[in-house]
Amino acid sequence: SAYISITDVDKSYGAESPIAALKDINLDIKAGEFISIVGPSGCGKSTLLKCIAGLQPISAGSISIRNQPVNAPPEDMAIVFQRDVLFDWRTVLDNVLMLVEFKGLRRKDYHERGLKLLREYGLDGYAQRFPWELSGGMRQRVAICRAIIVDPDLLLMDEPFGALDAMTRDDLNAELERLWYETRKTVVFITHGIDEAVYLGDRVVVMARNPGRIAEIVEIDIPRP
Ligand code: ADP
Ligand code: ADP
Repeated sequence: SAYISITDVDKSYGAESPIAALKDINLDIKAGEFISIVGPSGCGKSTLLKCIAGLQPISAGSISIRNQPVNAPPEDMAIVFQRDVLFDWRTVLDNVLMLVEFKGLRRKDYHERGLKLLREYGLDGYAQRFPWELSGGMRQRVAICRAIIVDPDLLLMDEPFGALDAMTRDDLNAELERLWYETRKTVVFITHGIDEAVYLGDRVVVMARNPGRIAEIVEIDIPRP
């Protein structure tokens, strides 16, 4: 059965004159699948991700993860946004370990893994530096390290590299691909770039707007190593 099951979902914002952000969304996602979501601004990509994450209530239909209805952010999920918030007055390593503390896990159990992830993500030597010293691409790498340090089963990404230049974006896409091959986590990845959607995704969900809906789901049949 599906890992994430999205059935007949509608989502509107506002009570008095509701805006239909999502209409008749049906999508099943398998465990270990990499799903890319593309579509014009305002078609409901972010809304869909937030509904999967349990950060926005849906108006009709159902979303379940491993057969459990989603009504709060799942424990084993991590989410990365376009401009992720780093705490500039805490070190890079402290930022990476922030979720660990938030989840009530022991910081010292994750210290080594934090340093290892920073190394893998090209941030060797930056653990004791501060986010304000880093470039945009480096900051997003820190945000990804923070998201994956607790080894989430499900990784949700809302245009994580959208604010970056094309070269940095290509580098980070390659890293994301490597991460996915190594861990086979379930990933839902929103992007404006059809090329990166196809490069990374097992399937590309193409959305359209007014109302926000799924126009097409394309299987990408490119052999993977
Ligand atoms: P996308 O991510 O594809 O740009 P969004 O999910 O951000 O689309 O937005 C879909 C629609 O829902 C847009 O019309 C947007 O203005 C509206 N919308 C998104 N978030 C909210 C919100 N918190 N309150 C009211 N309307 C919202
Ligand atoms: P994107 O198109 O990249 O999703 P937006 O600039 O549309 O980003 O939205 C940024 C944030 O504002 C999102 O969290 C979205 O949910 C929220 N938002 C978008 N439209 C509205 C709206 N009309 N009212 C309130 N919040 C909104």
